[in-house]
Amino acid sequence: MQNVRQKIEEDIWVHTNCARCYAFCAIRVHRVDGVAIEIQGEPDSTFGAQGGLCGKGTAALQVLYDPNRLNVPLRRSNPEKCIGADPRWKEITWDEALAEIIPRLKKILEEDPKKLVFMTAQTARQPQKLSSNTWRPTLHKQVCAPKVCVRFVS
Ligand code: SF4
Repeated sequence: MQNVRQKIEEDIWVHTNCARCYAFCAIRVHRVDGVAIEIQGEPDSTFGAQGGLCGKGTAALQVLYDPNRLNVPLRRSNPEKCIGADPRWKEITWDEALAEIIPRLKKILEEDPKKLVFMTAQTARQPQKLSSNTWRPTLHKQVCAPKVCVRFVS
């Protein structure tokens, strides 16, 4: 049997932040040909765990490549809400989700702003193609600004 090895086109460490909790530890991710294969704490960091990485951060690759990971908005299609009821989730687009959510949030904001808390976070280094970077600025601009607290870290 012949051992065939493909040529590696990319082998880099991506410097970023863990966003699995609000500590936002500085991390570096080993990426080979577009596949993240390892996460380490950023050794020189004085931020977050200062070069460390907890078990949750270490396990982030399992979340990233989990085949059951939720990547799209879902709308409940079963109005019945009780224990054992199937919510019958249906996939919808980000535009559909935002079109539904924004008027609701605006109404709450007008009626009683104290009822609305919107908290989110992202790293400044996240690529713009990530879906989370699609909805966050839209929601922020249309509903919450300037009352929202968005924490950016780099
Ligand atoms: S490494 Fe652990 S403590 Fe640090 S941000 Fe990630 S989950 Fe939180």
